[in-house]
Amino acid sequence: MIILHTRVRLMLLASGIVAAVCLVGAQQPAMTPSAQGDPLGQIVPVDPLITVGTLPNGLRYYIRANTQPRARAELRLVVNAGSVLEDEDQRGLAHFVEHMSFNGTMHFPGQDVIGFMQSLGMRVGAHVNAHTSFDETVYELQVPTDNPVAIDRSLLILEDWAHSVSFNPVEIDKERGVILEEWRLGLGADERIHDTQFPILLKGSRYAERLPIGKPEIIRNVNHERLKQFYADWYRSDQMAVIAVGDFDKSLIERQIKSHFGSIPAPASPKPRPAYAVPDQPGTVYSVITDPEATATRIDAISKMAARPQTTVGAYRQQMVEQLFGSLLSARLDEITQRPGAPFLAARTVRGLFLRAEESTTISALVMEGGVERGFAALFTEIERVVRFGFTATELNRQRLNLQRSLERALVEKDKSPSGPLADEFVRNFVQGEPIPGIVYEFGMNQRFLPQITLAEVNRVAETWMPDRNRLIVVSAPEKDRATLPSAAKLALVIEGASGAPLTAYVDTVSSQPLLAHLP
Ligand SMILES: [Zn+2]
Repeated sequence: MIILHTRVRLMLLASGIVAAVCLVGAQQPAMTPSAQGDPLGQIVPVDPLITVGTLPNGLRYYIRANTQPRARAELRLVVNAGSVLEDEDQRGLAHFVEHMSFNGTMHFPGQDVIGFMQSLGMRVGAHVNAHTSFDETVYELQVPTDNPVAIDRSLLILEDWAHSVSFNPVEIDKERGVILEEWRLGLGADERIHDTQFPILLKGSRYAERLPIGKPEIIRNVNHERLKQFYADWYRSDQMAVIAVGDFDKSLIERQIKSHFGSIPAPASPKPRPAYAVPDQPGTVYSVITDPEATATRIDAISKMAARPQTTVGAYRQQMVEQLFGSLLSARLDEITQRPGAPFLAARTVRGLFLRAEESTTISALVMEGGVERGFAALFTEIERVVRFGFTATELNRQRLNLQRSLERALVEKDKSPSGPLADEFVRNFVQGEPIPGIVYEFGMNQRFLPQITLAEVNRVAETWMPDRNRLIVVSAPEKDRATLPSAAKLALVIEGASGAPLTAYVDTVSSQPLLAHLP
């Protein structure tokens, strides 16, 4: 059986500063960055090392030469379609189509995709993979580039997936059982907890009704036409991108991509590709979930908001302000974790996209058994302390230095970035518009904005970090601890109490002086 990742993948925190650290990878010095002077309203430019093009049929491509690892290329076919586009009677079919792509295509009948990849020494899971999520389906191959035939054949696999999956009737019916088995066996505690959480988090939206795993009765009974219809509707040239990153000649790859994908006909009368929003909910919703296989007690507070545009220089600057806020608060939580008898084992806070239309701010902690109330009280006390007193100038200076150092490291190591994460950046650029300016430009933006960002500006973020609106409080714990878990009403009291308690300002006892003195 093919082991493919098909669970929901949430968009990770990929933008702004996080991206700076994993982005990178230039072979030659990039063009002189204009980051110092670009107006805030300008769109962040594309790294000149990336060739981005659109074929006449609408298909987009991204190509970048990269020598980590040597003699290898990462290929992706990205389809801007996932489970959210399924009709009511198609629930689970985006994932089913993904499975059928490994069960026969025009040039690779039967299991020949896997057979071919194995003949190159590549393994399923490690070098051949795919996943279906709410808004996109992504196919991934890693192939050797020292064999001239291999890369062309691999692009042919991607081309077949794009428009020539066979949907052999016998194979369709055989695959039903495989998917149901995956559904039954593949779920671990984390997935079950997520699957319980998503409908609450996404309540009132189309997403809440379209978990990628779908409905077992539809997988079991759906007719072949409805499956093929999903493929015909959404696997089309104006909704797909091909990505190639690796140790190859870029212009040769561009010619091969044009020849493979240029002949796919543009759709004659394409269905509009809808975008779905997640409606705001008033106040706070509570959810306490237990699972027999859960091994730890985890508490999360999640605050949602509609996704803001992220493509401009000004948006990048705002992400820096918020990222600084997140690392400042995480540092305070971390300091608490170090104390004897701390209320949590680990805690951290982040903000970022979690669906293409929705951003979330999350504060998460692992607590000891029976420590849920104490954990929440401690988290909300620290948020409230920041709301009332803000951070100190010395704390901000430390985080500025940390950020500066990680960017300097990224810049020094820009030629060591592996092709896989680079390819994944381009996937995110295609599906959600994440900027891909390259580390040189990004470093320039940071040089420009870091000294400008004031303490007052960072402190202002506190009010909107975890407000009592459009908010979800989640506890997930081992089933055996169910009796010890607090009710929603109890949690509400704990959080309210923490927000109203008398507090003193934080006193920074971590000295910044030696760090500053040792900077080169
Ligand atoms: Zn699957």
